[in-house]
Amino acid sequence: FGERLYLGMDFGTSGARFALIDKQGNIHAEGKRQYPEYMSGDTRDWVSSWKVTLFSLLEDIPVHLRSIIASMSVDGTSATTMIIDSKSGETLGRPLLYNESCPDALPIVKSFAPENHTVCSGSSTLCKLVSWWNSSAADKGSAVLMHQADWLLWLLHGKLGVSDYNNALKVGYDPELECYPSWLQSQPYSNALPSVIAPGKPIGHLKEDIAQKHGFPNDCVLCTGTTDSIAAFLAARATQPGKAVTSLGSTLAIKLLSTRRIEDARYGVYSHRLDDKWLVGGASNTGGAVLRRIFTDEQLEKLSEQIDPSEASPLDYYPLQTAGERFPVADPNMMPRLLPRPESDVQYLHGMLESIARIEGKAYSLLKDLGATPVEEVLTAGGGSKNEKWIKIRERVLGVPVSQAIQTEAAYGAALLALKGVEGNI
Ligand code: ADP
Repeated sequence: FGERLYLGMDFGTSGARFALIDKQGNIHAEGKRQYPEYMSGDTRDWVSSWKVTLFSLLEDIPVHLRSIIASMSVDGTSATTMIIDSKSGETLGRPLLYNESCPDALPIVKSFAPENHTVCSGSSTLCKLVSWWNSSAADKGSAVLMHQADWLLWLLHGKLGVSDYNNALKVGYDPELECYPSWLQSQPYSNALPSVIAPGKPIGHLKEDIAQKHGFPNDCVLCTGTTDSIAAFLAARATQPGKAVTSLGSTLAIKLLSTRRIEDARYGVYSHRLDDKWLVGGASNTGGAVLRRIFTDEQLEKLSEQIDPSEASPLDYYPLQTAGERFPVADPNMMPRLLPRPESDVQYLHGMLESIARIEGKAYSLLKDLGATPVEEVLTAGGGSKNEKWIKIRERVLGVPVSQAIQTEAAYGAALLALKGVEGNI
């Protein structure tokens, strides 16, 4: 009874990665690839680019490890939408990327979807589907909608039209009732909607020709995936209600595991389902981008060393790159507040880090006020997570243990889904 490994692949905004783990979560191999810049006329040919990257990643896996890979899963960018012809397997039109907006479809979607529903945004998957449906000349009878992760998985297992309820949230799938709502089922394109199961569930086996060509086992299981940001949350392994991950990148984003589902359009707060729990998320416009405008990364490191994190800074800032905030304060006109600037840069940085920590604290208490499980522990990802003084400041301000997450790569989270798919929760 030999060792089994589990493969996760992440198709993110800037490139793709893989992580190969064992049952204990140890990494046996990892790697990354940039997307090749294929063109089709004067637009990027993403279909070829993703497909070639998928098989490049498979080729990057050390040959001696391939034969013990028990399962695979893939995450992709949220709301990246593809329409496939179920008869030929060809894409009908180009993929619509996560950040593309379809303003033509928004009024139509708003006319039948409930107010403030997550599909009521120009970049939602549903707006992309409606926009395609109303403008394409293709044969619509055999059209199937697939998210990027569904499509990549389909290339490997060959069963058309299977998705997960994280990717399907923005097309309107109801993860609580586990069905498409009636206002969606009554639309002419309802037949194009994929069937939906939980993330990390077996779909089928790796296609025989792929298994043979690359040396994977014939019974290698393909499991449903998730979105890239949920996969990054899963990587941190915050598995109990009350555990959270704060991402301190260019902006500040928080994700909290809760027993209750929270939705509040005013603050842009919504929940993804994770089995019997809810992943509640919100994103502030404050964060590291403002720090980087004032200090270099070297200065951030040197100045931080001189901060006494046990002292509360009295300086009260609201660092923003431009006017406007959504969460934890919904104020589209909020002005950045970065003054007064003290003479000492150490004091200035201390004030900024303390102020961002207060905004983080306010974010968690807002989620609690909206009904989420109170935060008990915060793991941290992103460029600001390595700052130990900031971690101490945040522990004092938040009043809960704060640490740097050990794993933050989405590919690692996707590998955990592959593991879960064949071994169950561990
Ligand atoms: P992105 O969201 O762009 O992917 P990253 O996760 O790479 O961002 O984080 C970059 C941010 O981390 C920068 O905006 C920078 O201000 C911040 N940062 C880098 N080093 C430190 C540090 N030592 N302390 C606090 N913040 C830092």
